[in-house]
Amino acid sequence: MPQLIADRPVLRSTSDLARVMAAAKAREKAGERILHLERGEPDFDTPPHIVEALAKAARDGATHYPDQRGEPGLREALVAKLARENGIAAHPDDLVVTAGGTHGLFLAMQALLSAGDELLVLSPHWMALPKLVGFAAGATMRSLPVYLDLGPDGWSPAEFADRLRAALAPNTKGVYLNTPNNPTGVVLGRAHLEALATVAGERDLWVVSDEAYEHLVFDGARHVSFASLPGMADRTVSVYTFSKSYAMTGWRIGYVVAPPALRAVLGPLLAFYTTHGVFPAAQIAARAAVTGPQDCVEAMRAAYDERRRLLLDGLRECSAIRTPVPLGAFYAFANVREARGERDVWALVEQWLELGVAPLPGTAFGPAFGDWVRLALCTRREDVAEAAKRLAAHHAVPARA
Ligand code: PMP
Repeated sequence: MPQLIADRPVLRSTSDLARVMAAAKAREKAGERILHLERGEPDFDTPPHIVEALAKAARDGATHYPDQRGEPGLREALVAKLARENGIAAHPDDLVVTAGGTHGLFLAMQALLSAGDELLVLSPHWMALPKLVGFAAGATMRSLPVYLDLGPDGWSPAEFADRLRAALAPNTKGVYLNTPNNPTGVVLGRAHLEALATVAGERDLWVVSDEAYEHLVFDGARHVSFASLPGMADRTVSVYTFSKSYAMTGWRIGYVVAPPALRAVLGPLLAFYTTHGVFPAAQIAARAAVTGPQDCVEAMRAAYDERRRLLLDGLRECSAIRTPVPLGAFYAFANVREARGERDVWALVEQWLELGVAPLPGTAFGPAFGDWVRLALCTRREDVAEAAKRLAAHHAVPARA
């Protein structure tokens, strides 16, 4: 019998999210009600004008092979958006429409990492990073915990720069940056990004800037795109997605912006040979999303903001679960050191499932985060409030914790 699966470590996998979801599902099958705070998927439907644009485009015949870099009309609209919102002056040929941010990150890793190269991944980081780097044959990643120290009372920009310098190895080819950050909700300000820019310049590093949550910022925080800093566009691959801003996770559409040095490989080779482009009608609808009314983006942001407040308020008095205020994305990253006690974080997850609350353990975001859990704000406001209430009530009594 032939060997069915190639013997490559990247193809062996376990997923913390899948494990929590399976445990939650088993309980639901047994009749329990679970409040789902484990998954980062907007619960909103895509705004109707975007869906209508898709239907019309498909009826009008936008059903043929797409342009390998992306439909010219969408790329033009995105060039205007990048100039207006992100401060990035992109040429349409340096923008490639991808099958979501995941595909954009995949292309970035394939384009930048050779065998023996290391990517320094600022962490906690999105769960997919180890695999995304792992698919770049022979490349490795190293997780550098920074975001929890970059909140309001955290490291100064100079200290951040020193930490970065100390972490670089001779084979470090680039840095993966994600602000607003999943899972911490930390939003890096200009001064800290400038510190990274200084180090990137000194050591001639690439930066992969994942801006999936660019529109989800709270309490007056502002998103700054790394490639907008002086000189950085030449060493940055910026990755964007429609998934979060427009509740379009199932559409699989996003884009990357890169310097001309990558022009010959991103669209014509990597995008072409991975997905062969994105459904043209979906690209026309995505154009409607960026050029149309933006009040839907603001309405969803405001809803996440309200849920964020409900969660923080509900856990305010709970000393066993300490939740730094997230200023971006739609998660709270809570320190559960005290709630967990001497137990493994999975024992805590089991206990919370018993209470009807599904979290995602911090170990999903890097090995250093066993004292943390991520709570996603992608479920109804009532469920978020109820989850906070149950957790606070349970952990109010130390003996039961
Ligand atoms: N980056 C980050 C930080 C994310 O959290 C996600 C989705 N959870 C993505 C990229 C990719 O999203 P998508 O592929 O749906 O665009």
